[in-house]
Amino acid sequence: MENKPSVLTDKYEVGRLLGQGTFAKVYYGRSIRTNQSVAIKMIDKEKVIKLGLTDQIKREISVMRIAKHPNIVELYEVMATKTRIYFVMEYCKGGELFNKLTKGKLRDDVAWNYFHQLINAVDFCHSRGVYHRDIKPENLLLDEDDNLKVSDFGLSALADCKRQDGLLHTTCGTPAYVAPEVINRKGYDGTKADVWSCGVVLFVLLAGYLPFRDSNLMEMYRKIGRGEFKSPSWFAPEVKRLLCKMLDPNPETRITIAKIRESSWFRKGLHMKQKKIEKRVKEMSSEESNTDQPRSINAFDVIALSSRFDLSGLFGDVCDKRESRFTSKKPASEIISKMEEAAQRLKLRIRKREAGLFKLERLKEGRKGVVSMDAEIFQVTPTFHMVEVKKCNGDTLEYQKLVKEDLRPALADIVWVWQSDKDEELVSASQQQEEESL
Ligand code: ADP
Ligand code: MG
Repeated sequence: MENKPSVLTDKYEVGRLLGQGTFAKVYYGRSIRTNQSVAIKMIDKEKVIKLGLTDQIKREISVMRIAKHPNIVELYEVMATKTRIYFVMEYCKGGELFNKLTKGKLRDDVAWNYFHQLINAVDFCHSRGVYHRDIKPENLLLDEDDNLKVSDFGLSALADCKRQDGLLHTTCGTPAYVAPEVINRKGYDGTKADVWSCGVVLFVLLAGYLPFRDSNLMEMYRKIGRGEFKSPSWFAPEVKRLLCKMLDPNPETRITIAKIRESSWFRKGLHMKQKKIEKRVKEMSSEESNTDQPRSINAFDVIALSSRFDLSGLFGDVCDKRESRFTSKKPASEIISKMEEAAQRLKLRIRKREAGLFKLERLKEGRKGVVSMDAEIFQVTPTFHMVEVKKCNGDTLEYQKLVKEDLRPALADIVWVWQSDKDEELVSASQQQEEESL
């Protein structure tokens, strides 16, 4: 690739070279309209076409666009000219994670923090059916707040053809991070292959060097194939155990991400992190008031919420996956006590409660952090309330499952109509409405 453009489609100013991959060059860029910093990856279209990867790349781009996660480099936009494809991505100011290792190995808690973010990102993508298959140092970046950002997710097509092409293979370095079954080109399970690579990353963070090393490439392949590595003496026993399970050469018996989360080393780190958060929350909430009165909404709010002035319209017409509402014909006090009871039964922590607003969160970390939600009670009349349940944090799928399978049954006694049931209930609700009139 010769000269880069200095402006991209009148939208981005293209600046200095940030890095170079096998297929691509990555440049710093800035949006002309918003001034936002971006990274622009320029891929040689001819290479991609030659290898017949165009359709696969298109498919994977559409996956990447959906897969939004705090630890995954966001893809903002894709553009193409006759000769190149441009990926406009989130800019990671902190550069590559492994630059942190130039001064040697990381502290246990620092390594845990990066590893935790990596596992969250990888788990999130797996839940959406996307496998990375090319987790390695160059693809682990940091933003300006030192958050880990995995790049190239969904671009595994490129990773694959690096391996197919013998010439590219040698320029792309050693297979140090690649699982044995991938090297052997057997059909393999993307989730298991990613777990292996995460294991290599964890080892490197804690040791400051690779688990499988040899000046002779064949010898290194042999070591990988047998899972032959040795943890240094300073590794904690818990992390040694975890690494043995992640770097198991047999993908069938290799640990799953769910089990990694349950491992004692992972949980210990999580416990320490949560202690810190709890301390912060306590400091914050000690300054807040505690009243039980729900906010009341007036006729204008009702109209604003309803498209047509009937009960079904009260919920609005758009069904958002992160937000749901139900109506109740119980007094506020009963709704509040039922919410408290449900929180206790479902092991949800009440982080804050004031004026009919509950902030609830799970005790356990999910794949996108702790699932938390707001449940707010609005008074329409003293015996008619609307409760709005909204996701604040965490994975949307996990949140929906929690609402559907746990929260809804737990609140069944006080609920009159749930928003998502409105279509089925439409008829009966409007009949009842006539009788009781709002
Ligand atoms: P390839 O997939 O062809 O190997 P990469 O996407 O890994 O190319 O990019 C090469 C290098 O460019 C990376 O190692 C990194 O140093 C830099 N880079 C890539 N993406 C970003 C980004 N979003 N922000 C900052 N630097 C980046
Ligand atoms: Mg890369």
